[in-house]
Amino acid sequence: MTTPPKPFLSKDMDDLAVQFYAACAKGQLHFQRCDGCGAWRHLPRHTCSACGSAAWTWTPSSGRGRVFSWTVTHQAPFPGMATPFITAVVETEEGVRLAAGLRGVPPEQLRLDLPVAVELVSVSENAAVPFFRAA
Ligand SMILES: [Zn+2]
Repeated sequence: MTTPPKPFLSKDMDDLAVQFYAACAKGQLHFQRCDGCGAWRHLPRHTCSACGSAAWTWTPSSGRGRVFSWTVTHQAPFPGMATPFITAVVETEEGVRLAAGLRGVPPEQLRLDLPVAVELVSVSENAAVPFFRAA
């Protein structure tokens, strides 16, 4: 399995995307959770879309979820990457949805609600990228 490309990140630790990938590099998938109403969210942003609060906390995810949707790519998205490559939208147990690569599942075995678990793949000292595998 080839190493995926690094996400394009600034060097600014105030950047929420930098914080997201840095948390992944420490070995745990985290999402923002609103301190005002408890809503989970992803992609990272400064205010809660449910209540408008600007107070939030990075909170560990179980790393488990179910396939909500997917697409199968038959042309390598970057040189050396094995195909077919599956990108899934996973709905985590927290209710957050994120798009990520799905590994170890042949396309013919894909189905809605397939249980999956996160696998964090290191791409640099300060960043890891979430992928999922069948649970
Ligand atoms: Zn809120």
